Amino acid sequence: MNKISYKSLYISIVIPVFNEETNIPVLYHRLNSVLESYRHEIIFVNDGATDSSATIIENLYRKDKSVKLISLSRNFGHQMAITCGLDNTNGDVAIIMDADLQDPPELIPEMLKKWRDGFDVVYTVRRVRIGENRFKLISANLFYQIINILSSTKIPKNVGDFRLISKRVIETLRTTREYQRFLRGMVSWIGFKQIGIEYKREKRYAGQSKYSTTEMSKLGLNALFSFSLLPLRMVTVLGILSATCGVAYLIYALIVTLRGDTVRGWSSLVVLILFLGSVQLISLGIIGEYLGRIYEEGKHRPLYIVDSKLGFTKYKFT
Ligand code: UDP
Ligand code: MG
Repeated sequence: MNKISYKSLYISIVIPVFNEETNIPVLYHRLNSVLESYRHEIIFVNDGATDSSATIIENLYRKDKSVKLISLSRNFGHQMAITCGLDNTNGDVAIIMDADLQDPPELIPEMLKKWRDGFDVVYTVRRVRIGENRFKLISANLFYQIINILSSTKIPKNVGDFRLISKRVIETLRTTREYQRFLRGMVSWIGFKQIGIEYKREKRYAGQSKYSTTEMSKLGLNALFSFSLLPLRMVTVLGILSATCGVAYLIYALIVTLRGDTVRGWSSLVVLILFLGSVQLISLGIIGEYLGRIYEEGKHRPLYIVDSKLGFTKYKFT
């Protein structure tokens, strides 16, 4: 059971925004009717939007001082925008949600109830997903299966970034500054008491999904390579396997030579060269993937760059 009462509780809502002008007013309206009875702040992170999203949020701020806006210097992507929002929260809990109303604000009281019961992370499980194409559903399913086989950190299936996290989880995330971010996995990795609640995922209220197939694959690869060393170990296993085959073939070749049948074998030679060559190339590729990631992390660049802030009184951790 959590000690903070609903009355003194301060809730931070974090919303990454990339061209969501039609969604923001509706989202704000629905959020407001849920949040009325709580102390709260709504932090919009403008991730380099090129439409009038920022202006709409500025207008909301003029009427309602719980609205805050951080504009990034360019588009840094969904995961970085959330990171920036979390870095600037003041709340006892933070709730991360998308701007497109796929994550219903009406679920917030239920999330808070779980938090009151003592959970540090309340994630949401999509029971039904409406308006998403078959490819996305199949690839998402496959992705969770693979990642959970490969990685020692278990990531729940059909779970997005829509979740409530407690102050200590936020603080841990603030000190976890890895560049290749897959927040869902990082939150699972942090631990504490976590629970899922189910909901029906509606389709996007307006506009297009900002996640292209390439973006989705990038996020998937981030999850795979930052949460598992298994691909790297597979390289070693592959090497041992092909070495064993090599030894077996050597014995066979010796026997054939001793018998004097040495002309045959051209095709097997070609097959062997091709096979070994490809094993080596794949292995190099996998090693390269990790090397590239070490390089990216090694640069220690900031995860995002803030252009301007609205509604924040004092300088916060960025
Ligand atoms: N988003 C963002 N930066 C990006 C892409 C998306 O801040 O580069 C935001 C977007 O405005 C939305 C959320 O992240 O609030 C989720 O994006 P989207 O709905 O396009 O993803 P999907 O639900 O299709 O996975
Ligand atoms: Mg969406």
